[in-house]
Amino acid sequence: MKPRPKAIDFSPRTVNKPDVRPCRKEHFGPMRKTMKKWVEKLIEQFDFDLSSAPNGGKGPGEKISGEGISEERATLLFIIDTLNKHLIDFDGHPVRKTREVLDEFAKELLHSENQSIEKVLFRFRQFFSGYRLDESAYLQKTFEDFRAIIWDFVDQLAEDICQEQKEDLEVRQNLEQLKEAVETNSIAELKNSSRRFIDSYVEKQFKKDKRRNTRMKSIRQNLNAVKKQLGEANNAVRVDHLTQAFNRKTFDEYSEQHWKLFQASQQPVSILLVDIDHFKKINDTYGHAIGDFVLKELVQTLKGLFKREADLLARIGGEEFAIILPDYKLEHAQTKAEEVLQKVRSEVYVHEHNKISFTVSIGIAQLCEGEAREGWIKRADLALYNSKNTGRNRATTAPTPLTRVA
Ligand code: GH3
Ligand code: MG
Ligand code: MG
Repeated sequence: MKPRPKAIDFSPRTVNKPDVRPCRKEHFGPMRKTMKKWVEKLIEQFDFDLSSAPNGGKGPGEKISGEGISEERATLLFIIDTLNKHLIDFDGHPVRKTREVLDEFAKELLHSENQSIEKVLFRFRQFFSGYRLDESAYLQKTFEDFRAIIWDFVDQLAEDICQEQKEDLEVRQNLEQLKEAVETNSIAELKNSSRRFIDSYVEKQFKKDKRRNTRMKSIRQNLNAVKKQLGEANNAVRVDHLTQAFNRKTFDEYSEQHWKLFQASQQPVSILLVDIDHFKKINDTYGHAIGDFVLKELVQTLKGLFKREADLLARIGGEEFAIILPDYKLEHAQTKAEEVLQKVRSEVYVHEHNKISFTVSIGIAQLCEGEAREGWIKRADLALYNSKNTGRNRATTAPTPLTRVA
């Protein structure tokens, strides 16, 4: 069996991503060299054995790139991989199922002897347009639910106002009668009219209060429902659906906030990048479902170790996590990294009859003066890379950046 090159992911550490424009051959020429490297990494990511791909995974007339796959197929694979990373769960389309379909397309692209890329592309387009229609219907429905709540409320308010106007008219008519009674000077009539007016006024006031209470109650209920929906929607965009750790978007925002805070107040902040060692083997040995289980369990373990409210744990890649540690200098961050290593090392995760153990590698960096946010994260990433290259199951502290000479 031919030895595999080192496993990759698409983090900036390992991949210099080209500007990919689908199927326009003229874009590939000048960056052919980068492209080849990129395609190799891509194939590695999908874990396919190209040697078994008929015709090297290439249809008639397609250009060869990387280890024998055509540039067109590689571009499509890249698109599929990108889609895979940004799926959301919605009615009838659980992420797992969609991922399986997309993986099937990816496999076909590599293993289809007689199929030209156009045929795969055609079916991919059909699948994807159906998917997008359902996605759009789902978003529309969520919006309609929200609109229905507001509409109910407006409807009820309009009805109440109408009723009140009617009652106000009756009160005004009673008041007119009372005025007439005063003018006629008849005591008996005045008494009757006054009683009628007071009774009807009190009754209407009572009804009004009752309606107001009902309306307020209903407003409160509706607002609570809306608040809950908005909270859930907000949560859904901030949190990774599989592990319930924060997602990349939240990580970017939070790291940016702390970068700014550091500029203003020099409040120290450190970052840990944690990547599971040989995670692909876990998937290969136990299957994807257990791979998912491991990701979820690791998040639970990490949540147990980072309990401060200010700590932020985010999933920033397939099996890569970042922890932002406000107020922590390197020594603190290093202690926490050791805790993570120890804890994960000693843990046995049980799933049905499987007992799974694994390790993680860590990169540590404290934000330095004059450093860009991206530079800070890049340093942590390089430190993580270093941990991987020096045996894994360890933490590496990033050296401080070189100070620029003016
Ligand atoms: P290394 O020690 O160098 O980090 O090797 P590795 O195998 O952990 O890393 P690599 O980046 O080569 O593989 C990561 C794998 O994670 C590839 C991908 O199939 C898998 N993966 C990514 N996202 C998910 C997911 O949501 N669920 C599961 N089960 N697997 C995932
Ligand atoms: Mg890994
Ligand atoms: Mg990784």
